[in-house]
Amino acid sequence: MDSEIIEEENHSIRILLKGTDRASVNALRRTMIADTPKMAIHRIRFTQSTTEEDGVVWESVGPIPDEIVSHRLAMIPIPSEGAEFHLPEECPECADMVESQRGCPMCEIIYRCTVKGEPEGRAVKARDLEVLGDLKFSIPEEFQDITITKLYAGQLIDFIARANKGHGRDHVKWQPVAGITFYARQHGVLNDKKAAKVLWNLGLTIKEKDFKNGRIEDIAVVDQLKKDLLHVGPSTDHGREFADAITLEDVPGEFILQYESDGAMSPRTIFENATEILSSRLDNISADLDIVL
Ligand SMILES: [Zn+2]
Repeated sequence: MDSEIIEEENHSIRILLKGTDRASVNALRRTMIADTPKMAIHRIRFTQSTTEEDGVVWESVGPIPDEIVSHRLAMIPIPSEGAEFHLPEECPECADMVESQRGCPMCEIIYRCTVKGEPEGRAVKARDLEVLGDLKFSIPEEFQDITITKLYAGQLIDFIARANKGHGRDHVKWQPVAGITFYARQHGVLNDKKAAKVLWNLGLTIKEKDFKNGRIEDIAVVDQLKKDLLHVGPSTDHGREFADAITLEDVPGEFILQYESDGAMSPRTIFENATEILSSRLDNISADLDIVL
């Protein structure tokens, strides 16, 4: 399987895969969803307290229950690049401990959050999560505005949150990709020059000269052609006249994979990690088959 990045922007990517088939691309898609690990907040310890300060009673309560706050924290993208964290169950330090005791600098990032409410309301944001340890694991600026809860005078929140690596197959908070899909790469084919005039007469983007020897192969131009063809499709006034003047033809063995990253890792890193995981899994299967056969 050959790959070529055709579009990469912020957290979204489109990759052209060549010399492959639908099943293999789908295996890669499934690997990204379920088997490519990333960091996410997994354990939170809320401190319960009631204190009095200058006549005001501060209580660890808020409008949102702790369970929902925990869920919201789990969905915040935690930086998962720049250091190799171990899965807690594979961590050289903690693997032998019982699950609740696991956690060390090699397998977790710890955040602390202490915020007091204000009379007009104080939104507790992702930026209030203070990382204990390496500052490069602070919540990235673009996600700092994610609201966790809102507190008023007399309300406070105080917790320690621990993030560790996990798999999307166990919980969606560990899934690094969103909106992942793939489709066959297509070429545009001009079948009937006379009927195609219906499209040219509409004065849209694609012109007859875009076809070289009756075909359009460039991915961006084909994308545009697909949009233009919606104006002359079977359900439009021009459908009958236009018929199959221009058709789209699947290119054998070529697929376009597109997805977004949740922000914890770059889409490129997710692709590299997933291909590595998938190929090592396939190697294991062939090694097993060699033994059996
Ligand atoms: Zn550990």
